[in-house]
Amino acid sequence: MIKVKNRKILLLPGDGIGPEVIREVKKIIEWFNKNKSLDFKIEEGLVGGASYDKHKNPITDEVFYKALESEAVILGAVGGPKYDNLEFSKRPERALLKLRKELKLFANLRPAICFEQLVAASSLKPEIISGLDIMIVRELTGGIYFGEPRGIEAIENNERKGVNTHSYTTSEIQRVAKVAFDLAKKRNNKVTSCEKSNVMEAGVLWREEVQALKDKEYPNIDLSHMLADNCAMQLLRNPKQFDVIVTDNLFGDILSDEAAMLTGSLGLLPSASLGAKDKNGKTRSMYEPVHGSAPDIAGKNIANPIATVLSLSMALRYSLDLDIEADLLDSAVQKVLDDGIRTKDIMSSGKKEVNTSVMGDAIISKLK
Ligand code: NAD
Repeated sequence: MIKVKNRKILLLPGDGIGPEVIREVKKIIEWFNKNKSLDFKIEEGLVGGASYDKHKNPITDEVFYKALESEAVILGAVGGPKYDNLEFSKRPERALLKLRKELKLFANLRPAICFEQLVAASSLKPEIISGLDIMIVRELTGGIYFGEPRGIEAIENNERKGVNTHSYTTSEIQRVAKVAFDLAKKRNNKVTSCEKSNVMEAGVLWREEVQALKDKEYPNIDLSHMLADNCAMQLLRNPKQFDVIVTDNLFGDILSDEAAMLTGSLGLLPSASLGAKDKNGKTRSMYEPVHGSAPDIAGKNIANPIATVLSLSMALRYSLDLDIEADLLDSAVQKVLDDGIRTKDIMSSGKKEVNTSVMGDAIISKLK
């Protein structure tokens, strides 16, 4: 069998439960190296509070350049109460923002998949969410979170005014719509684009540019447009009507959290952030669980590693062209859940509770 050579994966464990869940991912990559003729070079680096503790900086240049050179970056989580009072530029999240900005990660992919074994964990009725499999593509580097002018200013009558600017250009809209259309081609060819074109000019532009790209380059995609507030309602009423949803930074932030929560536990939700292609045609990317550093359970070996394991699966699929290995890993997770093996956060009566490392081992045993 031919070995895939010289592929670098950078693991950034970070803070809290980050090192515990990344440890399981590392075991799985090592298993793939040994048993599936892959040859990933695993590198590791400090990020967030862990980097601040050692270097007084949430991400060093050395780690940042390692990220630039890697085919995929997989991050655990950053932050924790110990760092809450640091000045803004030293805070753990600055590392994430720097990576997202400098790697130009403009498309955030958040799948909302309902595992049959965990249907009962959702707050919605089983028939509404059973079999749910949708993908939200959120624009990540533009819109109101970054637009200028911004700030808080004093105005007359002793009042203050807070200002943020929502703006998008044709190319910003079309590059993220392209990611959504390309994903839909691998799924069910269906995309719903969400904005507020009824009240915002930037929303009118969003709708027109997404439609123009579809007409020009994606004739076979079934594209519909929906107002973002209606989408929020439809996600609760009938989420299975969606396949891929594409939307801007602000609406995507809210809709992706809402969609994610349809499925039950934070410990199961992966994400991918994709950027532009570099000069060698490779897409820059970063993969991370949706959850944070969970300081309340850190160091106890009880965190659920599945969100991070599924983030590795997304890396195999979207950055490393290893769909077969990604399918294998996804189905190993399914089989473990079929066997009734659960970490504490998804435990229910009659199931077997295991800790983080045993869950990782159980997933590996199903890869075999
Ligand atoms: P959190 O996601 O860390 O935790 C919320 C709750 O979910 C906690 O009760 C936690 O124990 C539980 N939980 C989360 N992940 C779990 C897992 N894998 N297994 C089992 N239980 C899990 O959110 P929070 O408490 O609001 O934030 C804690 C810290 O994480 C803060 O410093 C915050 O800034 C940071 N944070 C970081 C990221 C990131 O690194 N991308 C994202 C969100 C929050």
